[in-house]
Amino acid sequence: MKIIRDIETLKLAIALHKKNGRTIGFVPTMGYLHEGHLALAKAANEENDVVVMSIFVNPTQFGPTEDFESYPRDEMRDKSFAEEHGIDILFLPSVEMMYPDRLTATIHAKRRVSVLDGALREGHFDGVLTVLAKFFHLVQPDSAYFGQKDAQQVAVVQGFVADYFFPLVIRIIPTVREEDGLAKSSRNVYLTEQERKEASTIHEALLKARNEVVELRDQAGILANIRTIINRNRSHKKIVYLDMYQYPSFEAIEDWEKPIVIAICVQYSKARLIDNEIIGGV
Ligand code: AMP
Repeated sequence: MKIIRDIETLKLAIALHKKNGRTIGFVPTMGYLHEGHLALAKAANEENDVVVMSIFVNPTQFGPTEDFESYPRDEMRDKSFAEEHGIDILFLPSVEMMYPDRLTATIHAKRRVSVLDGALREGHFDGVLTVLAKFFHLVQPDSAYFGQKDAQQVAVVQGFVADYFFPLVIRIIPTVREEDGLAKSSRNVYLTEQERKEASTIHEALLKARNEVVELRDQAGILANIRTIINRNRSHKKIVYLDMYQYPSFEAIEDWEKPIVIAICVQYSKARLIDNEIIGGV
């Protein structure tokens, strides 16, 4: 595995692979790797000759009061994880490398962002798209791999790539979960023991709701049932958002036959967790 920290070295490595006609799979991450990231890496490995993974905690997608400084980081551990899981190039740029100067032109997400994290985390998806535009130009992947766990991110990125004809395929990988159903997340390390035990009810509630979408078709009732299940727990927490929309538009539900996403965010004492279920083929 090649570890690359600077853009010029990355460009040379990519140019060589391109010259040799190799396909490139790209897995962008913020590190603190877990099985969720590795599922993306596995798919990238199966479908490409070369796999590039980036680890970059991107400051432009964090708000001023969010956890950019305290976001978990462990480069040593990530390096050995990546090496063991077939990554060919691990790209570890610094903030200065990715943002050498103030931007002359900015990217602003306009659709699919008026609700949930798009509404609550001002500028979050602008930051995500900004860094992805940079990465896509540098890595020139044939395919880029994203997790369904971040459903709104997937929808926004797919729209962006389609809008601007980025010459790559976005591949969506199902959410990898702990045995009890909790979605794997770098932020799970912030859960207390009690919170960790109870956090599996997020998935349990969403799974029940999945059946109710098919049988009940009553949005308020379905959401109320999810709240009831999650609020049974003793640990202090706040449901930051819980709602359902048409997918991938993230607009109000008008057609129950078309794909629907139920998305939730729960704030525990230190961990902000998100999860979702998508019902109907996408
Ligand atoms: P992050 O490092 O949290 O920015 O995540 C990097 C990529 O891994 C994103 O595309 C996420 O959606 C994806 N990812 C994170 N957690 C999971 C999971 N539990 N299962 C599948 N993909 C995930």
